[in-house]
Amino acid sequence: MNKNDERRLQRMSKRQFLIGAGSAAVGLAATRSLAAKTTSKRWDLIVVGGGTAGLPAAIFASRRGARVLLVEAAPELGGTLFLATGQMSAAGTKVQRLKGIKDTPQEHFDDIIRISKNTVDRDLVKLAVWNAADTFDWLWENGFEMIPEHPVAGRAHEPYSNLRYYWGVDRGMSIRDVLVHEIQPEIKKGNVSVLYRTKAKELLQQTDGTVTGLITEGEDGSVAHHDARNVLLASGGYAANPELFKELNGYTHYARKSYPFCQGDGHRMGVAAGGYLHGKQNYLSSFGAVMANASVPSDVILRVNTYPERRQPWEIYVNSNGRRFVREDIPSVDAREHALLDQAELRYWVIFDEAIRNEAPPIVDGWSPEEILEAVDTHAMFYRADTLQELASNAGIEAENLARTVARYNQGVLTGHDLFGREHKPRSIAEGPFYAIRVQGYSVTSTVGLAVDAELRVVREDGNPVPNLYAAGELLGAGQTMGRAACGGMMITPALTFGRLLGERLLRFET
Ligand SMILES: Cc1cc2nc3c(=O)[nH]c(=O)nc-3n(C[C@H](O)[C@H](O)[C@H](O)COP(=O)(O)OP(=O)(O)OC[C@H]3O[C@@H](n4cnc5c(N)ncnc54)[C@H](O)[C@@H]3O)c2cc1C
Repeated sequence: MNKNDERRLQRMSKRQFLIGAGSAAVGLAATRSLAAKTTSKRWDLIVVGGGTAGLPAAIFASRRGARVLLVEAAPELGGTLFLATGQMSAAGTKVQRLKGIKDTPQEHFDDIIRISKNTVDRDLVKLAVWNAADTFDWLWENGFEMIPEHPVAGRAHEPYSNLRYYWGVDRGMSIRDVLVHEIQPEIKKGNVSVLYRTKAKELLQQTDGTVTGLITEGEDGSVAHHDARNVLLASGGYAANPELFKELNGYTHYARKSYPFCQGDGHRMGVAAGGYLHGKQNYLSSFGAVMANASVPSDVILRVNTYPERRQPWEIYVNSNGRRFVREDIPSVDAREHALLDQAELRYWVIFDEAIRNEAPPIVDGWSPEEILEAVDTHAMFYRADTLQELASNAGIEAENLARTVARYNQGVLTGHDLFGREHKPRSIAEGPFYAIRVQGYSVTSTVGLAVDAELRVVREDGNPVPNLYAAGELLGAGQTMGRAACGGMMITPALTFGRLLGERLLRFET
């Protein structure tokens, strides 16, 4: 490392990382100055993160003849695809045509605008949606094994108006299998070199901000300095970093369900290089999870069925104040999720009585009424008591309000007029023992992201790109492609597509 590099590193490590308008400091530990070994090669592209976005970027760049260094913190390639459900969405695919489904990117785009209430980054969504079919076709033609009945309209999130939602038979792993298979020839050719168990630590920049490479640190502490014409940050989100999650999203990180290597390193490096973060206003949480226990974060152990199209509710949902906050049988999953955002600690309790336990279809899919009883003894989030007062006190709900809420609901069952307009009211909640199940809202993805332009170049707040620096995947922020909503498949498909487009055409490799 020469003297200039040393000075540059020292300057960068002293820098404060700023969010958004530049007022709030991100609580990311400032990186220390690193004594680096310089590698002799100058790479056409360094990809930080061998996951959903990084792998296609490396594959397609290599096919163009680029020399690519792929830096991966984990011991294996695949990133969040190890954990993801793997839902993708694409319009105009070959599979759709084979199945006689007429669909267009414009219809997909219109659906996303409708579902997200126009809260997405329209340019990024256009780039994703108009190129999604080519991405999906490429996966499919290279061995992606799809559930035979797919595509579907989707049910877990607000449904699409057409059948354009695809899952692999082995969830995210079905996608990973194709990507890992496709990168092997590029590695064998010698175009792609992979550094496993190696973390990207700092970007190297010239005084004018041009990115010239990257400093990495191996598991053994060895530090290396790599020169490159372009650096792509594809290091995923920060959803496995509870402190950063809280700081950037403004909500507690409740569920331990995200890829552990996704710690927000790309956010930190991107900001340090001159980029900025945005999108906090798009945070949204899911609706029906039951956690293992009250610790934070905790594991999700099961789900209650809150989908009225699959099971009409017999119970009521109350917040910690003992008040209802949503019409339990409202058909829109988006409406239920938005209602939960206003509840303390994103938490609610499902309340029912003995008769409902015995007569209602199972609130946990596949469970018998006896299993609810067993759960009271074995699961920390299930409660049973002879009176509503006692139930409230055990579960941590405001007792007087709960009694009043149940009485009002029961009155609505008698009169037929529910305060929330609920239609399905099969019976009142009248006689003990009474039950409560504590349900937690949570998010497994990172809402806030690094701002980029429509060519996926990291941009400064004045709109100018940081030369030679690109970003893709969850690092852009879930809210950019899904808005303040959950639009099916609109994280994995854009991550794959942006990676592919960067490798295929957006990145420039000339000297
Ligand atoms: C449980 C779960 C279910 C999901 N289901 C869906 C779904 O069905 N549909 C959908 O669209 N989205 C889904 N998502 C979201 C989606 O999977 C992710 O947004 C997407 O896979 C992220 O892709 P990525 O390339 O940005 O990050 P990743 O695929 O996570 O790749 C990032 C890579 O960067 C590496 N890395 C991190 N920091 C460094 C560093 N400093 N140096 C080197 N390497 C580093 C990581 O190890 C990782 O391999 C789900 C997410 C979760 C957690």
